Amino acid sequence: MKNIVLLDDLTINKIAAGEVIERPANVVKELVENSIDAGASNIIIEIKNGGKTFIKISDNGNGISLEDIPLALERHATSKIRKIEDLEKTYTMGFRGEALASISSISKLTIISKTENAEVGIKVTSKAGNILSAEEVITKTGTTMLVEDLFFNVPVRYKFLKNDATEFRYIKELVEKLALANSNISFKFINNNKNIFFSNGNGKIRDIIYNLYGKDIESNLEDINYEDKNIKITGVVGNTLIAREKRKDQIIFLNKRNIKNQTILNSADQAFKGGTGIGKFGFFILNIDMPATEYDINVHPTKTEVRFKDEEKVYKSVYYAIKNATLNKTFLGNTENETGEKRKNYVENEYKFLTNNFRTNKYFSKNTMLNSMSTNLQKSDDILIKRNEKRKIEYKYIGILFKTYIVAEVGDEIYLIDQHAAHERLLYEKIKANYKQNITADTQMMLIPEVYNLSHKEFEFVEKNLELFKNVGYDLELFGENSVKIVGMPDLDYRVEKKEAFFDLLDEMLTFNRSTSKDIEERFIATVACKAAVKAGMDLKEKEVHDLIENLLELNNPYTCPHGRPTTIKLNKNEILTKNITNL
Ligand code: ADP
Ligand code: MG
Repeated sequence: MKNIVLLDDLTINKIAAGEVIERPANVVKELVENSIDAGASNIIIEIKNGGKTFIKISDNGNGISLEDIPLALERHATSKIRKIEDLEKTYTMGFRGEALASISSISKLTIISKTENAEVGIKVTSKAGNILSAEEVITKTGTTMLVEDLFFNVPVRYKFLKNDATEFRYIKELVEKLALANSNISFKFINNNKNIFFSNGNGKIRDIIYNLYGKDIESNLEDINYEDKNIKITGVVGNTLIAREKRKDQIIFLNKRNIKNQTILNSADQAFKGGTGIGKFGFFILNIDMPATEYDINVHPTKTEVRFKDEEKVYKSVYYAIKNATLNKTFLGNTENETGEKRKNYVENEYKFLTNNFRTNKYFSKNTMLNSMSTNLQKSDDILIKRNEKRKIEYKYIGILFKTYIVAEVGDEIYLIDQHAAHERLLYEKIKANYKQNITADTQMMLIPEVYNLSHKEFEFVEKNLELFKNVGYDLELFGENSVKIVGMPDLDYRVEKKEAFFDLLDEMLTFNRSTSKDIEERFIATVACKAAVKAGMDLKEKEVHDLIENLLELNNPYTCPHGRPTTIKLNKNEILTKNITNL
């Protein structure tokens, strides 16, 4: 069946500027998107030399028919739309009918394809857009596109390519995103004959995340599931522990297309507020599904910028989607009691606040929300840089709340620092830094060695884990059936009785059944820190408080204790102002 037609001139003109192939990754994107559009459930991407000499994409999609093949190579030849109105309801990745024509004009292209009904397939080769050969071949249903020597006839473009490793990285990032967006399609990625990535197409995004980011990330995710009229949001959101320094891991797909959108980032920031730590960004992968009539994706040739018809609705939906997923104890500034009406009021006000301010220019110098966002971004980046350079953050110490929270004012924010969690975190860092080092350096000798009686279980644990004790700085000897002589303790500024710290440590270690030695080691270090640290309800001297704040803020990720509990809750000035308005 003939399926491809030439678009009329009017339609061509109405579609914005053409596709630009700048680098191998653009080729991979166009070809893989064609495979997705063709309904493939299996896509193999193979490249060599960063894609410069060799890009091969094979799929099991519906194939191209014999008579359509020559047309497929022509500019503005597409099987996906017929007229401009069709754009409104287009869900396919491509629709301009330009990619194949552009690619074939700047490379050696081989197409092998067969449709389900055809008995044989066809193989066509072209060079610089001219068809060199066409022959029948025996092949499976589906399509293979082979692009060799990209830019061989455009030396200027070729010159601008980065080295193979960099071009490979662009392609890798792209393939990862394609796989994340299309978890129901199996992807295989091969570079220079080496398997790089594989997804099995079982539809589970977490499996792909596990593959790409590892267990530590995967196990700190919450699922997102949100649905409202005409909008559905699924995906995952990372808890406080895996908040990032950059926005790189904030990935948005709109009907499976990877997009960028400030409104969504803005909304996510609000939803994460207080949950990521200062200067950090929440980890999320959002899959937004909504009717194509609700947005315009054609505003930019690379098709990543999107204009929504109802911005407010998208803003609120994303906010709720993330917020609902973050109402969990693994998040900082957990707002479990902030449910129902209260939260609804909050998000209403939040949105009004932002939009009013961008209308009246009161807070933001430029008159778009987009700009207000980038100023906000700027601010958090500044803070980040300060911390990385280990310059001291200016703060004002206010006092201690409930003998538990140290209150400090930092710029427009109030920090509530949990004294125990913060101290624990610092001690933990110290132990880690000294772990397995020369024992005398981080051991504090006891004035008089102490002998403790142990239970059978305790004795057994110490005996089995002598190395662990030594590695964190214990100097001890076992003797008899049930005694231990402590000559030195880890050199930490203890805020509790040393004997108590030792027994609490044993207690904790015996309560938890750890399977691997790595788990035991981690837990052990964290527990040594925990048991030595100041507790809630203990008094701190002002000098101790300042030491604590300053040392804490110097850490790379000061916002959680080693067990993952938050050390710091932050409240934003604007947040407090908005809350007041709500209560009036
Ligand atoms: P577009 O994707 O915008 O339609 P392209 O130039 O990328 O334009 O592709 C032209 C046409 O070739 C497509 O509309 C489609 O009919 C066909 N085509 C390209 N790649 C494949 C593929 N892997 N499987 C089936 N058909 C394909
Ligand atoms: Mg296409």
